[in-house]
This record gives sequence, structure tokens and C-alpha cells, in this order.
Amino acid sequence: MSEIQGIVIKSTGSSVIVRLPDKQRIICRLKGTFRIKGIRTTNPLAVGDKVVIQMKQDGSGLITEILERQNYIIRKATKLSKSSQIIASNLDQAILIATLAFPKTSTGFIDRFLVTSEAYHIPAVVVFNKFDLYDTETAGLLFTLIDIYSDAGYPSHEVSAITGEGLDWLEEIMKDKISLLAGHSGVGKSTLVNALEPGLVIKTREISTYSGKGQHITTFTEMHELSFGAMIIDTPGIREFGLIDFEKTEVAERFPEMRRYMYDCRYHNCTHTHEPGCAVKEALKNNLISKSRYENYLKIYNGEGWDEKEWD
Ligand code: GDP
Ligand code: ZN
Repeated sequence: MSEIQGIVIKSTGSSVIVRLPDKQRIICRLKGTFRIKGIRTTNPLAVGDKVVIQMKQDGSGLITEILERQNYIIRKATKLSKSSQIIASNLDQAILIATLAFPKTSTGFIDRFLVTSEAYHIPAVVVFNKFDLYDTETAGLLFTLIDIYSDAGYPSHEVSAITGEGLDWLEEIMKDKISLLAGHSGVGKSTLVNALEPGLVIKTREISTYSGKGQHITTFTEMHELSFGAMIIDTPGIREFGLIDFEKTEVAERFPEMRRYMYDCRYHNCTHTHEPGCAVKEALKNNLISKSRYENYLKIYNGEGWDEKEWD
């Protein structure tokens, strides 16, 4: 029987769709006796998983092996729940779509997202959409933010899904990579994807478990292929992205620009909040670390919640 490697592009529990290297998609099922070592989740397979399959006579496949995941993102069933689900794996990058026009994305949200990406070992990109709507003052703020994020090591750029501004840049960033596309509802994710790939519809609706609207929508994470060679992971709801718990002591390490200075602090267990001889605070004073990033470090360090209403 022939064995072949592929990548999971959709997994609904009962059936799994795998993309083969020749772009062919086949329906697979998981070998009955299959167990993944060490990971307890409600769904053993995630979008992005690289799998080995055996082709069957009828053209379907049997998944016999899941290759080690480079990284993965999880979703807890609820805030307090212990069980979690791997929603996507092997991501090359997480692209946060933000905007300074309605609905304005707070820097608190952006920084929390970036800290989470660091914890997940996923490189992150920050895109500011709706550039066509910014007045001079907002554009000034935008360029300050782009400098802050670029200096911290995150590619950042302004775009407009309406005028097409910055879309070449975005295409270049996404080409030949698997990207998670994230951002609040209304920032323009689906409009952007449509500008990049006319006709492609993504699920941008957040599944809100809190809104109590009585609607129960079952949506699955899915991977889409764009014609210029990009793959995007489309997952409804990104609130969960910020829900993973951090140890207080690891927060500073998740800020690349703080990481550059923190090893020069006088005390090895410096929290960069009040200690004398703190190299991070010195760098802050010298404008080598931005005030907004440092303030958001303090918020995360102090365990302030993940309700964006609490952020500026
Ligand atoms: P999503 O929830 O993130 O997918 O957001 P949508 O793509 O549905 O966009 C929300 C609203 O913003 C829609 O009315 C879009 O037409 C509008 N929109 C999206 N991108 C832009 C943009 O670059 N400029 C302007 N002016 N409006 C935009
Ligand atoms: Zn320090």
C-alpha cells in the first residue's frame, strides 16, 4: 500500500481533509487504534498537522501517523475549563489585523496578542487596515506604532482593503507561508482576503459563547489556499488566543525589546517594576523601549484580564 505525506486542511472530527503535495485533496479517517503520545485533547487532529496516510482502493486515505508539531495554538472549552483543543498547528506566522479606525484596536490588545504569539513560538505580524480613513493625526500615531512594532521585531505596515494600499507588501509577507489571520470582528479581515483573492469567503464571525444570543453555530477551523501561494488559517473567534496563562516571571521574556536588556539588570530576578539597577527601566528612560509597550507589560505582569474593555 502506498504511503504519502499531506497536511490537514480541515478536521471536523468525523472526517479529515488532507491536502497532498500535488494539491489534490482527499478525505481521510484516523486509524482506529491511533493515540497521540502525551497530548490530551478533545480532537486529536488539528488543521496544519502534517500526516502520513495510506491510500486506499476507493481513493480515500487512512491516517497512520502525525508528524511532530512545530508549534500549535489551543483553545480552552471555557475560561475555567481544563480541557483544551488544539485548533491549528505548524503555523509560519500569526497576522494580527488591527485598525486605528472603527473599531479601533487598542495597543493593549495588540501587545497581549504578541505576547501570546511569543509563548506559542509563532512569529507575528501587525497590519493596520483602513488606512484610507485615517486623518493626519491618526496617520501620525500609526507611523509611531509601526516603528514601535518593527523595532520590537514584528513586521508592521499600513494597508487599505478599499484602496489597495499596502496589499503588495501583505502578499509578499504571506507568500509561501501558512498564516493565521486574526483580529477583532469588523477590522476588515474578510474584505482584505477578498481584495487579495476575489471570491474567497472566510468565516470572520466570532463564535461568542458569552453573548447569549441563543445561536449555536458550529464552525470549524479551515485552511484556505490563495492563488499566489499563501495558505491562511481561518478560525472563528480569537478571544481565546489571549487566554493562555503566563507565569509572571516569563512575561518580560515575551517582549523581544525587553529581552535585549533584561540580562543586564542588577538582580537576576528583577521584575523591571521598581528595582534599582534595572536595565529595562534604563532603556525605557532612553526611549529604547516604548512607553506603551512597557505599560502593557505592567498590565500583563499584574495579571489584568483579557477583556479588551479593560484596555485603553
Ligand atoms: P471582518 O469582520 O474583520 O471580516 O471585517 P469585514 O471585512 O467584514 O469589514 C468590516 C467593515 O469594514 C465592512 O463594512 C468593510 O467594508 C469595511 N472595511 C474593511 N476594510 C476596509 C478598509 O480598508 N477601508 C475602509 N474604509 N473600510 C473597510
Ligand atoms: Zn529589570
